[in-house]
Amino acid sequence: MVNVLLNSKSEETVRQQVTILGATGTIGLQTLEVIALHPERFSVFALTANANVQSLFELCIRYAPQYAVMLQTTSAESLRAQLKAAGSSTIVLQGEKALSEVASHEQVDVVMAAIVGAAGLHPAMAAARAGKRILLANKETLVMAGNLFMQAVIEGGATLLPIDSEHNAIFQVMPSQHSQNLVNSNLASMGVKRILLTASGGPFRNASLQELQMVTRAQALNHPNWVMGPKITIDSATMMNKGLEVIEAHWLFNAHPSQIDVVIHPQSVIHSMVEYIDGSVLAQLGNPDMRTPIAYGLGYPDRLTSGVSSLDLLKTARLDFSEPDMIRFPCLQIAYDALNAGGTAPAILNAANEVAVEAFLTEKIGFMDISEIIQSVLAASNIERVTSIEQLVAVDEISRQAAFQRVNVLC
Ligand code: NAD
Ligand code: MG
Repeated sequence: MVNVLLNSKSEETVRQQVTILGATGTIGLQTLEVIALHPERFSVFALTANANVQSLFELCIRYAPQYAVMLQTTSAESLRAQLKAAGSSTIVLQGEKALSEVASHEQVDVVMAAIVGAAGLHPAMAAARAGKRILLANKETLVMAGNLFMQAVIEGGATLLPIDSEHNAIFQVMPSQHSQNLVNSNLASMGVKRILLTASGGPFRNASLQELQMVTRAQALNHPNWVMGPKITIDSATMMNKGLEVIEAHWLFNAHPSQIDVVIHPQSVIHSMVEYIDGSVLAQLGNPDMRTPIAYGLGYPDRLTSGVSSLDLLKTARLDFSEPDMIRFPCLQIAYDALNAGGTAPAILNAANEVAVEAFLTEKIGFMDISEIIQSVLAASNIERVTSIEQLVAVDEISRQAAFQRVNVLC
């Protein structure tokens, strides 16, 4: 099987052609749910997954994409055989390069970037360079390569719409001139004083330091408000997720770290806020359901139904706020520090975090070891100015090796 895409123009002229990177994940599946509500507006061009053959097979049968991509060769072979036996005409490709091909193909209008982790960087960059409408869920792309990615968005003429619920909320309440001039927007000149990122606080919001030392994998995977993939669920429990989101907000909104504050808001009803110099604070509210930001990204500037139920404020009854505790949740402070250090520091942080989270998920290390590993890898690394994607890929690899070594010492 050759990894080459057909270039024939499809008869589709009106419907937007959508590629979903990470289709079998939580965000990928919810994107497909919203698309299924609007068959007159969208058709599925390509679906991708890492290794889950059964799930991608079922999605291919249901949505009949032109292409399906699996990262693993053996998974691709198995999917190809199953689809052939089922009479499907979906073409199965394999490997990393094919992910970028279906993200940048000329027939594609919209790319949902919902691969988890650093693996999402190359296809997101490809979509940016090809000038696509990018629905960005993969926050790790901005954490690793914010500067280069934003540059690629501008140079490629892409439209970038944040899907992370906080950033989507901020985007919705920012002045409209911001979305027209992402990189060069100046918050102060638009009258913006600061961004308030809300955080649920995760399952251990009220846990003591001693209790945090004893946290199990099952407890950490049990998020009170959101259903998400395992990596982001652990990131939410350590509050590294909020740290990654601070870095994400810095790049998306051209915000100085001192203009981004985190507020604990356990109900997850206010998805974030923007404070203006006149004292106005604008917030976006809704039920904690990712189909809202996904529908916003798909429809923008139109509003689409998403399947999300109405927010019942009477049932919500109260909205609480408190300050984050950087002692019990050191990952948030580490992320602010890495952002302030600049250069390759956030890429090092991201790589060490991915290795540490995986080690926690496989029960090799304890919960509080996660922050310890990231901190020690950062402390032992040289922070350099970012010059290229190739440099960042090398930094990612070296930082992973350093984190693996630290895991081996601890386990
Ligand atoms: P998930 O684990 O449920 O799904 C991940 C998807 O990526 C799967 O389809 C998987 O097959 C694919 N994948 C994994 N490793 C891959 C690799 N090496 N190469 C190619 N594909 C690979 O994750 P999720 O919860 O859907 O999160 C996806 C992204 O969206 C993450 O970056 C996360 O931080 C972000 N995000 C998620 C949510 C949420 O509610 N789930 C909210 C905000 C942001
Ligand atoms: Mg979020």
